[in-house]
Amino acid sequence: MSVDSRGRYTPEAAGEAMPGSEGPSGSTSHNLLSTRRASLMQEPVLVLNATYEPINVTAVRRAMVLMLKGVAQAEEMHNTEVHSAAHAHRVPSVIRLLAYRHIPQQSRALSRKNILLRDRNTCQFCVRVFPSSELTLDHVVPRSRGGRSTWENLVACCYRCNNSKGDRTPEEAGLKLARRPRPFTLHTSRQLMRLIGHRDERWRKYLFY
Ligand SMILES: [Zn+2]
Repeated sequence: MSVDSRGRYTPEAAGEAMPGSEGPSGSTSHNLLSTRRASLMQEPVLVLNATYEPINVTAVRRAMVLMLKGVAQAEEMHNTEVHSAAHAHRVPSVIRLLAYRHIPQQSRALSRKNILLRDRNTCQFCVRVFPSSELTLDHVVPRSRGGRSTWENLVACCYRCNNSKGDRTPEEAGLKLARRPRPFTLHTSRQLMRLIGHRDERWRKYLFY
């Protein structure tokens, strides 16, 4: 297979393939196409409410399903197409829901992923940015002291700070929180959408108002 250990296509791997191990002719370009398509389908798409209010970020794949179902329509497109059996579809960058959807103030689930997202992968004690795999969740008030697993008591924390804090409060450990932890609100989502939106100028007019 001309795919590396992380599932990506690599020309080097293809070059090393034994003659005859490639399968039917054309399979190399097919692999390249489907890999490129797979990553394209994961690209972020901005989702607007019927009122043009930005409410979410989803992946191209999901956005196209919403469009095919007639739930949403494309407002902005990329200059790329994906092909299904019978049709070529242009890839959306921004979609809008056709019916207004009420978004509860706090709709985000309390999860490790969402806490790291809220804290932008930044250790809340040493204020350094880490990959998700190098962060843990810290109970600000330790569980042994009755600290609960809530938005207000859980923060992203690197292993080093987590070790030095141990079973103590930040004050006792001589550590200071970068900022007071808050629930994930629409405000937080919008900040994140702006961060992602810097990559795609088609998003700007919906986010920077
Ligand atoms: Zn740290």
